[in-house]
Amino acid sequence: MAEVLVYVDHVDGAVRKPTLELLTLARRIGSPVAVALGAGAADTAAVLGEHGAVKVLTHDASEYADYLVVPKVDALQAAVESVSPAAVLVPSSAEGKEIAARLALRIGSGIITDAIDIEAGDEGPVATQSVFAASFTTKSRVSKGIPVITVKPNSAAVEAAPADAAVEALAVSFSAQATGTKVTGRTPRESTGRPELTEAAIVVSGGRGVNGAENFAIIEALADSLGAAVGASRAAVDAGWYPHTNQVGQTGKSVSPQLYIASGISGAIQHRAGMQTSKTIVAINKDAEAPIFDLVDYGVVGDLFDVVPSLTEEIKTR
Ligand code: FAD
Repeated sequence: MAEVLVYVDHVDGAVRKPTLELLTLARRIGSPVAVALGAGAADTAAVLGEHGAVKVLTHDASEYADYLVVPKVDALQAAVESVSPAAVLVPSSAEGKEIAARLALRIGSGIITDAIDIEAGDEGPVATQSVFAASFTTKSRVSKGIPVITVKPNSAAVEAAPADAAVEALAVSFSAQATGTKVTGRTPRESTGRPELTEAAIVVSGGRGVNGAENFAIIEALADSLGAAVGASRAAVDAGWYPHTNQVGQTGKSVSPQLYIASGISGAIQHRAGMQTSKTIVAINKDAEAPIFDLVDYGVVGDLFDVVPSLTEEIKTR
């Protein structure tokens, strides 16, 4: 069976969920071979093996932490050259997409970004994308070179598929560009204790209807009762009520959770662009004619200041 390279997103050996989702998709089109780089790379092998990786290629060097993405592209290119895979899958994070784009250019391949599904096809993997603010779903395949595909978080279930992952050291020689841009400092964001917005299984978002930064506390309370991330519409962000890092939409983040709850959000096309692929959508809006109700699975016509706290209380009792 053809091998499929999976780029591993991890923090000091702790593998992030989108990588495990990639392993589910990789197993549909071949045998997953994971590529883990940097500090803790070898520590990823156990969990990757539990989710179907047959091999883990590892390489650790200070360059991965000290410089921007080029050392990682060098390493992934070395892995492509040693394995000749049927495809390369990379998580659709900002960094993942940059790595994938640079890799595709290096190896002369076509690239598909932000796939929401991948299946095997007669002429190579077929990727599904949601395009034009989620108005259309397209299926496409790369017709040149080894397909490089980035996949949005929450596009596939994490599945246990125990395999004996052999750990092998990857031989990497860094290019002249690898050390071109040095990282001079990192400022960790203050932790809210909530899941990362793009990876969360549940997102609770607030919009202009929340009517003030202080009122976002009720959105946060609902999010916390569900173990969810908090999102915001651009109107709420532009008003300074919530940080831009939490903005969902065309000029914010794109999310695809199992459950998306929109409160006081009208459903403008630019907001939909970032959340329309959510599996179940619930809206709370006092205007029964709000466009958001055209795309919801469940809608509540009501004042969010009544509905959201009642919902939070009800969830807490369960
Ligand atoms: P509104 O459209 O004002 O809607 C507020 C809603 O709250 C209304 O439906 C109202 O009925 C309801 N409401 C009010 N009070 C209550 C209450 N007490 N209880 C219940 N419901 C209540 N927008 C994004 O969100 N993300 C983006 O990334 C984004 N990118 C953009 C990019 C461009 C180039 C442009 C031009 C626009 C972009 N926008 C984006 C803005 C977008 O067009 C909308 O203006 C924005 O999404 C509106 O936010 P909103 O739904 O919170 O506010």
